[in-house]
Amino acid sequence: MTERFLPYGRQTIEQDDIDAVAEALRSDFLTTGPRVEAFERAAAEISGAREAVAVNSGTAALHVAYAAAGVGPGTEVVTTPLTFASTANVALHLGATVRFVDVDPETALMDPASLEGALNERTRAVVPIDYAGAPADYDAIREVIGERPIDVIGDSSHSIGATYKGRRVGTLCPACTISLHPVKSITTGEGGLVLTDNAEWAAAMRRFRHHGVERGDRHALASEGPWAYSMTELGLNYRITDFQCALGLTQLAKLDRFLARRREIAAAYDRELAGVPGIRTPVVADTTVSGWHLYVVRVDDHTRRRAFFEKLRELGIGAQVHYLPVYWHPYYEALGFTRGLCPKAEGFYRSAVSLPIFPTMTDEDVTSAVERVRDAARGVV
Ligand SMILES: *Cc1c(COP(=O)(O)O)cnc(C)c1O
Repeated sequence: MTERFLPYGRQTIEQDDIDAVAEALRSDFLTTGPRVEAFERAAAEISGAREAVAVNSGTAALHVAYAAAGVGPGTEVVTTPLTFASTANVALHLGATVRFVDVDPETALMDPASLEGALNERTRAVVPIDYAGAPADYDAIREVIGERPIDVIGDSSHSIGATYKGRRVGTLCPACTISLHPVKSITTGEGGLVLTDNAEWAAAMRRFRHHGVERGDRHALASEGPWAYSMTELGLNYRITDFQCALGLTQLAKLDRFLARRREIAAAYDRELAGVPGIRTPVVADTTVSGWHLYVVRVDDHTRRRAFFEKLRELGIGAQVHYLPVYWHPYYEALGFTRGLCPKAEGFYRSAVSLPIFPTMTDEDVTSAVERVRDAARGVV
């Protein structure tokens, strides 16, 4: 019997999502309209942040957040290499430089101790990744930063709805960014959010997403007439559409249910894969309730990781690896970054395999995935 192919992640779209988008398409607003604001209010409410700014990708969210925080030429952004490249890329787009620090070898989260020595007078932002859905150790990171004028911006692309010491993602640092790509916890097709308590940053991010334009009766060209607007800063078109925000609203309403199912699946994997020789289940700090965007097992013998991965694919498990260390990419290599810079992150990468986890996985899917993972491990690790 060939078992159903199980990707490592996929969206959950239900009838009410489809209805909400259809209704938005029939309305007067295709792009910026009332659903953008409604989505932002709902996202702020659910996360506990004062403001949410919606944009058209998680990458755009990072870009507008960095810009609002003053990342630019002459400044540095400190992050870890186990992330999607855009965490670092947008700093380069803004003319800043990137410094990579190492991770905790078990959780793959930024190691606060590795920040010591990485901070200097140019550092403008420290950007921890909430890897796999588990918030980074924000208190310890803040402690290392101390009184230095450096902001923490969480790349929380994986972790909407997760908590750290009982506090929600959205309240853990001055701004954090969410991706709404279909593999993430909730989706708008493409989309992103910045959650922040900083009203000035929120206003700056809303200008940036609309070309750096100001309207109203107080801007420089206002006296030109009622048609006038002033472009005061360099921005981009990072606007999200009204029909995407219609989807965002129905998806946000399901977040708790989606997260509960992800946690059930993770718990089942933890239980069923615990004793499988050759692989280790993920480690999550006991201060943390993960959003379980990813379920990442580790292969003890790194030289067997590829064979294990290929066997999983053969068995219909759409395994994936998160992530190639960012600075291994040729673009970063050309900037002078060399292998060995963050040995723990590289070691984690060499052992990591992401297994299927998404809310529409049935109990049968989970049982079948466990069987196939055991088979693959038996054969090769
Ligand atoms: C998905 C992701 C991004 C980019 O988000 P997009 O919505 O794809 O632009 C950035 N950082 C991390 C950690 C991500 O997982």
